[in-house]
Amino acid sequence: MQRRPHEPLFRDQQIETLSRETFDLAIIGGGITGAGIALDAAARGLKVALIDKGDFAGGTSSKSTKLVHGGLRYLEQRHFRLTREALRERALLYHSAPFLVNWCGFLVPTYRDKYSHTRVEIGLWLYDLLARSSNTHRHHSLEKNQLFNLAPQLRRRDLTGASQYFDCMTQDSRLVIEVIKTAVEHGALVANYAAAFGFFKQGHEIKGIEVADLLRNTTFLLRASQVINASGVWCDQVRQLDFPEAPAKIRPSKGVHLVLQRKKISCHSAILAPSVHDGRFIFILPWHEVVIVGTTDTDFEKELDHPEPEKADIAYLLDTLNWIFPEIGLEGRDIVTTYAGLRPLIQSKKADSKDVSREEAIFESDSGLISIAGGKLTTFRIMAERLVNRVATRLVKLKSTGISKKSNTAGISLGGGPIALKNELFKQNLDSLSREYQVDPSLIIHLIKQYGINYREILQIIAEHNEAERPLAAGLPFVQAEAIYSGRYEMAVQLQDFLERRSRIGLCGRRADTACLELTAASLGKAHGWTKTEQEAQIQNYSASGQEGSRSEAEDGR
Ligand SMILES: Cc1cc2nc3c(=O)[nH]c(=O)nc-3n(C[C@H](O)[C@H](O)[C@H](O)COP(=O)(O)OP(=O)(O)OC[C@H]3O[C@@H](n4cnc5c(N)ncnc54)[C@H](O)[C@@H]3O)c2cc1C
Repeated sequence: MQRRPHEPLFRDQQIETLSRETFDLAIIGGGITGAGIALDAAARGLKVALIDKGDFAGGTSSKSTKLVHGGLRYLEQRHFRLTREALRERALLYHSAPFLVNWCGFLVPTYRDKYSHTRVEIGLWLYDLLARSSNTHRHHSLEKNQLFNLAPQLRRRDLTGASQYFDCMTQDSRLVIEVIKTAVEHGALVANYAAAFGFFKQGHEIKGIEVADLLRNTTFLLRASQVINASGVWCDQVRQLDFPEAPAKIRPSKGVHLVLQRKKISCHSAILAPSVHDGRFIFILPWHEVVIVGTTDTDFEKELDHPEPEKADIAYLLDTLNWIFPEIGLEGRDIVTTYAGLRPLIQSKKADSKDVSREEAIFESDSGLISIAGGKLTTFRIMAERLVNRVATRLVKLKSTGISKKSNTAGISLGGGPIALKNELFKQNLDSLSREYQVDPSLIIHLIKQYGINYREILQIIAEHNEAERPLAAGLPFVQAEAIYSGRYEMAVQLQDFLERRSRIGLCGRRADTACLELTAASLGKAHGWTKTEQEAQIQNYSASGQEGSRSEAEDGR
């Protein structure tokens, strides 16, 4: 399938075509799993539709720890196949989105009565070995002075050793958006705020989805030869639209993160801290303007749409932070924001959710609905490949020509096409672009790291709009042109879509920053033609929503 040029993505047009045409594959769920399937199938030449009841990446896929990793913990649980596969996917993703997936060092200090240094070293040696030739960054032991240079406030008492290993980090929701945009460039049609509420059947076979357009309060029928349920933690709810008695397959597990100001914790590397409560490791991740700390892993039995961090979750994380940084004395008020996500784990007899396998499972109903759940952000590409392999043979028979039975996503670049980062970031290139568009070189670097080769579209918007190079929030790199771009090219149709998932502004705790909200609403409004009243309504909606996590719980936390 030939890749189309990067074009504006208008939701109304997409919905109009979705309701009119018949598709080979219709996907319910625009998290990383559904996005990956849409890209794999569209790139093979299948006619693909994807819908999400909220914004793309609005579910678990924007609430992760943001690691593209093999998973040291899975190694400890002897899930060698999963670790090996995830390490291979880490390498592939680094090559397909080098602007968005970055290598990052992780310190592993060990203490008496906690993990032994020898055990950690053996684990890291095996981790490097499993990564094989894709491993460009190998772990090493650190001397005390090297450790404290990287993390001066770290606990010194009872220290028995330290190592540093390497994994990758990403911006999870931007990864989903980039995969969806790439699927669209390969011909997929997509719509957010479009909920599946029933199935259309011929005989007993599913031949379409009944969809509610939640922004226009209308419904339509999405016709397709094959329907895929990639709705994550909502998987059972969607299966029960097909067969109300379908037994539950998913075991939701909640994971909470704290977001702290970067200036509060002085560290030049990510850290794995042993939890003071159990045998788990807690990640402490300096990430752009903030430090992310997580995560918890507890069974969750409440309503799935709005998981909240609770006092006990916050205390669990703060206790370990205060143990590993004994001098800082972190309290609830140091927390900028919090977020909670739900892992769509597959049910198992394990007593503790943290012991449940992270591998994905695929189930097929008698009426032909194929559901996929579990897995990881890191392994989305190979999960999609396996699922589409399963349906491709059947669909190839129906369509007979023009479809590849093999996945080709391993060679597809995200972010608009291959990007030679070294060339793009070359000083001479930056200087000449900086002169041409009259912007600071640091803005160009920021745009490249957010949008890949499509940063050029944003420079073009800057050239066309007055003041579009101006920041949206003091101290953050995001500019007005990005909101205009996201409205036009990324289907950001609500203020929160841009603040929470197209940019990191939400994670930096700007809910009460009126100037930022007004400027963002005005910029996004340029893409959608919003009146002043519509902009104000967007701000009110955003302020009233709980997307950013519960700060009051955090303040009470300790
Ligand atoms: C705390 C935490 C930390 C994690 N950290 C990492 C990590 O660092 N690295 C890693 O690799 N993995 C990590 N994971 C795992 C990873 O985030 C998940 O496996 C992945 O995001 C799941 O994606 P998904 O697309 O299956 O689900 P989701 O992202 O939840 O997407 C499902 C989508 O389906 C939509 N939907 C539901 N019902 C309907 C309907 N009726 N109609 C239309 N749409 C519907 C939802 O709105 C949602 O957007 C973490 C998970 C958690 C919870």
